[in-house]
Amino acid sequence: MLDTIGSPTAEAVLEDALRRQFKGKIALVSSFGTESAILLHMIAQIDQATPVIFLETGKLFPETLAYRDTLVARLGLTGVRSIRPSGAQLAAWDPDGRLWQRDVDLCCAIRKTNPLDGALEGFEAWITGRKRSQSGTRATIEMLESGPDGRMTVNPLAFWDDAQIEAYFTAHELPHHPLEAEGYTSIGCATCTLKPRPGEDKRSGRWAGLDKTECGIHMPRTQGSGLVFAGNGI
Ligand code: SF4
Repeated sequence: MLDTIGSPTAEAVLEDALRRQFKGKIALVSSFGTESAILLHMIAQIDQATPVIFLETGKLFPETLAYRDTLVARLGLTGVRSIRPSGAQLAAWDPDGRLWQRDVDLCCAIRKTNPLDGALEGFEAWITGRKRSQSGTRATIEMLESGPDGRMTVNPLAFWDDAQIEAYFTAHELPHHPLEAEGYTSIGCATCTLKPRPGEDKRSGRWAGLDKTECGIHMPRTQGSGLVFAGNGI
């Protein structure tokens, strides 16, 4: 099935990826953020046991954890894996839990990139909710991309805009992230997330004031390159 611009629909891309192209070898990576319910709902219509990787960084809003539990119950998802950072890496590099104040890239490596690399081992492909409309490094993404690690990335919502997102929530009566009502439009770790100011783009509240727009999990990297501590045996 094609959408209005002649691309396959998000549902068709997902169904093909889950049932045929990467059957049994693909996972959805979800932040359980403001727009995550869409892909979670779509995969639930295809296979409720689809692996879903959730990076529980230890710095998330409690509302995000509650929203995860709400969606899991509501959609009947049975494959959600909450992945935590390595205790050894935290002890070595972030013993006071304040690394995010000193080095956000190192903190994201310990709490996001490295755990994701481990969680994706054995998977040939992963699904993300990235969209061109999120601009920045996402403005040119395609629905299917290959990474330097040899793993494929499936972006079913690559061409979706805000109107389509809201229409899907309404059509399927999906609950919104509780912090959206307070003005948050893109939600990551509580320590590094602000509400955008009027006129700013949706992701502007992430690492506000810093020259950083991505945590690194969506940046090209070769397999294992995120394991910055491998040489230390941590
Ligand atoms: S978003 Fe902030 S707290 Fe979360 S892992 Fe990255 S630097 Fe650390």
